Amino acid sequence: VPGGTETTGSDASGCRGTPIEMRMIMDDTLRSPMLDIDLSALRHNLGLVRAMAGDREVIASIKANAYGFGVVGISRALVAAGVRKLWTGNFDEAVALRAAGIDAEILLFGGAEPHQYEALLRHDLQPTIFDDAGASGLAAAAAAAGKAAPVWIKVDAGLGRLGVPVDEAFAFVRGVVATPGLALRGVYSHLPFGSADGRQWALDRQGAFQRLIARLAEAGVAVPVTQLWGSSGLLTGLPDDSNAVCVGHALYGLTPLEPGVGDDQSFRPLVRSLSAGIIRITEAGAGDGGTGGYGRIDNRLAATAAIGIGDGLRK
Ligand SMILES: *Cc1c(COP(=O)(O)O)cnc(C)c1O
Repeated sequence: VPGGTETTGSDASGCRGTPIEMRMIMDDTLRSPMLDIDLSALRHNLGLVRAMAGDREVIASIKANAYGFGVVGISRALVAAGVRKLWTGNFDEAVALRAAGIDAEILLFGGAEPHQYEALLRHDLQPTIFDDAGASGLAAAAAAAGKAAPVWIKVDAGLGRLGVPVDEAFAFVRGVVATPGLALRGVYSHLPFGSADGRQWALDRQGAFQRLIARLAEAGVAVPVTQLWGSSGLLTGLPDDSNAVCVGHALYGLTPLEPGVGDDQSFRPLVRSLSAGIIRITEAGAGDGGTGGYGRIDNRLAATAAIGIGDGLRK
């Protein structure tokens, strides 16, 4: 659903969906496809994640349009439920959240490019850095803006994708802390997995990140937030010395895990219904597309619904 998620749904206490979001949807589009999201399921899942996280702060991963469920509506519900940090990779979606009046802390996962730094600071977004170019570029943007830039440092603990290599991270973090104009908000890494083998891999890799956190603490380097695990690490109970987790899948009733790996039984799905208007009903056989087109139509009646690939519907 463009622009929002909550439509006609009632939450656990029987309240109707928020009128603001209903109006937004109607203003946004005259098309009929409608994804009805159960926000009480989101709150239920958040409660389970919080119970599993214990003392650790729950950060919500809202990347990719909140995993397709609609970033503004989902974020609004999460913030109303007490979530204070939202993490995304999408600059435009982060700006859309600000435009919607959401004032939570918003981290950008590493999608920040130098030409965006000025706008990032203007929208009060918190970029990720992992190299000297990022640190100095952001410090310069902060000086130009006349305010400190809140930054997060991403550490590569073995995924080999993004981040300062874990062996070089201690020196890099110290350098960032000593750089005028940069205000370190936290240090994080990412070791996602889906299989039992993957869990063992993450278990083998996590020690280096935990040692980094311990070393920083011993050296008296103030790191407000440390975070390593997402859904997979949390659901399989991997050890953690960090003070936060960043969870996406589990919040949305999805799982990154293969069956049998970890406990995700009691999470609830968010989608209550997907609907679209029927625009034509014909008797089968009226056309000769039975063997061409997208497959044989065996039904006596065929209904054409106004929904398709552009709405996320696959064959
Ligand atoms: C997506 C992401 C997460 C959340 O992972 P889930 O499996 O959805 O819980 C955490 N950290 C980083 C860096 C991510 O990109």
